[in-house]
Amino acid sequence: MVGLLDGLGLNEMFGAALGLAAPWQVVSVEFDQEAGRLDLGLDFPRGARFACPQPGCSETACPVHDTDVKTWRHLDFFQHQAYLTARVPRVRCAEHGVHLVNVPWARPGSGFTLLFEVAMLTYAKAMPIAPLAKMAREHDTRIWRVIEHHVNKARAGMNFCDVTDIGMDETSARRGQDYVSIFMDLEERRVMFATEGRDALTVKAFAVDLKAHGGEPTTQIERVCCDMSPAFIKGIKTHLSCAPPDADEEDGIEVAATPGHQPQVVFDRYHVVAKANDAVDEVRRAEAKTRPELKRSRYSWLKNDASLTAKQREQLTWLTRPSMRLKTTRAARWRDDFNGFYDQPDPAAAETYLRRWCYGAQRSRLEPIKEFVKTVQAHWDGITAWQHSRLSNGLLEGTNSLIQAAKRRARGYRSKTKMITIIYLIAGKLPLPQIHTI
Ligand SMILES: [Zn+2]
Repeated sequence: MVGLLDGLGLNEMFGAALGLAAPWQVVSVEFDQEAGRLDLGLDFPRGARFACPQPGCSETACPVHDTDVKTWRHLDFFQHQAYLTARVPRVRCAEHGVHLVNVPWARPGSGFTLLFEVAMLTYAKAMPIAPLAKMAREHDTRIWRVIEHHVNKARAGMNFCDVTDIGMDETSARRGQDYVSIFMDLEERRVMFATEGRDALTVKAFAVDLKAHGGEPTTQIERVCCDMSPAFIKGIKTHLSCAPPDADEEDGIEVAATPGHQPQVVFDRYHVVAKANDAVDEVRRAEAKTRPELKRSRYSWLKNDASLTAKQREQLTWLTRPSMRLKTTRAARWRDDFNGFYDQPDPAAAETYLRRWCYGAQRSRLEPIKEFVKTVQAHWDGITAWQHSRLSNGLLEGTNSLIQAAKRRARGYRSKTKMITIIYLIAGKLPLPQIHTI
């Protein structure tokens, strides 16, 4: 490095550090210790020529018409804010007329260098925006504009035409309100689309977005993993399926109807088991009116054995003793037996198992369990389909933790668009710009 920089002046050293290529060069370096500011002046030599900035133009050597002085915020130099200032030429292209050229260190219209923007994107993946803006000593609206620009641009270039298995889930932006629906590519484990609301229209919005990204919404999706919400089910039938066209008769010859398409719905295992847990808790709450020992035992019944605390395990062991004769114990057993469906070795065995379970649970004399049996029967295909595809949203594990993180990153901002932007940033696997030299 010493050899390379040997004999270079300060300007040339900064030019090398910035990765500047001809005709651009550093012509001044001013450091103001009191203001905590480093200013690098960039310029080009008289007579330099530049490429025409118009897309598709092949003119690489346009003469300079005039210049416009611009300044960009660059990455801090230690604790000092660094700025680049340059006379940006407007060139005259024989075909396109006079236009401002593109500079290699910043995108058009931005007041930040690309390196600064990439650094902001990198930090935004790992920390909330409000403290990030404070750390960068910039107004948060400017930071948001950078993030939104790069996320939107990267998303616009995504192609989803190969996606066949999707997961849909909803999350609340704030506790129990302001829902956002999330659509995932289950194979690539990335968020494809997120939008406000949790009704059938969110599926329509997904279909429109899929089409805009090279997809065929009514024929392409083979499997959808979701909860049992009627809104999603209706949305899938309406917006991700196509009915077989009516057989037409033309000139007396029947034209063969092309078959319709409907994705296989797979109900997410976690959501189905959650409904069984709800039934157990309903039994417990009713029984607690006459059996006070059941009060404050909700989580002991709902957690799986491994995650119980010692105290909860002790409570559960006490409550489930046969001599207690609790209905809640019976309900929990029916729930555990239901979970056994997911451990069956093959789809045929699993269906037989579930049919027998329904038969027995219907006679359990526990109303909430009987109601759950009805839910299982009404959603039979989607529940048993799990045995064929083993699809699961996994939103409970990896992606859900990313989404929870996105909520924290966007905390303090009411707009759900901002939360959705961060969801894309951290869970969308977007091709964002990387740090090279500017
Ligand atoms: Zn041109």
